[in-house]
Amino acid sequence: MVTPVAKPAPCREGNVNVQPIGSIHAEGCPIFVEERVLEQILDFSETDTEREIGGFLLGGLYEDGRPFVEVRRFVAAKSTRSDAASLVFTHDTWRDLHHRVATEFPDDVILGWHHTHPNFGIFLSGYDLFIHRNFFSSPWQVAMVVDPVRCEFSFFQWRGDEVMDCGFYCIRDENG
Ligand SMILES: [Zn+2]
Repeated sequence: MVTPVAKPAPCREGNVNVQPIGSIHAEGCPIFVEERVLEQILDFSETDTEREIGGFLLGGLYEDGRPFVEVRRFVAAKSTRSDAASLVFTHDTWRDLHHRVATEFPDDVILGWHHTHPNFGIFLSGYDLFIHRNFFSSPWQVAMVVDPVRCEFSFFQWRGDEVMDCGFYCIRDENG
């Protein structure tokens, strides 16, 4: 059980480094993503346009009146099985992820997961929803789908019992 840490949300008025992208839903847990991590995820997604690849989103779980998440790190999934339109996280995938978080990133929370849909668009399939419901069931956990061929992507979040596509806040690097 992960407990949110109290911290002011980065979207407070006057922060010019925070940019909303897409439709932010009032009832969804706000998602903040560091721009350099977003670029890293998109670059990684383009490394294979033939088969699905994926990874995990790490960062912080905070609370400012209500919970919000900050994505600060991406780790590629190891030991997956995949083809053009499917991706399976194996026992070794989960073991590697939990080992890396425990040893390299002990302060990080597993905020969600990412995978690609090369040239078949942005949505969560029945199997994707199965993964999300079983492994990312906390109300603040998110999914991200990238189509590296069509150059599209979206986040997905829990809204009630449904997992819906959603916008996010991009945190730009203050040093440019
Ligand atoms: Zn999928």
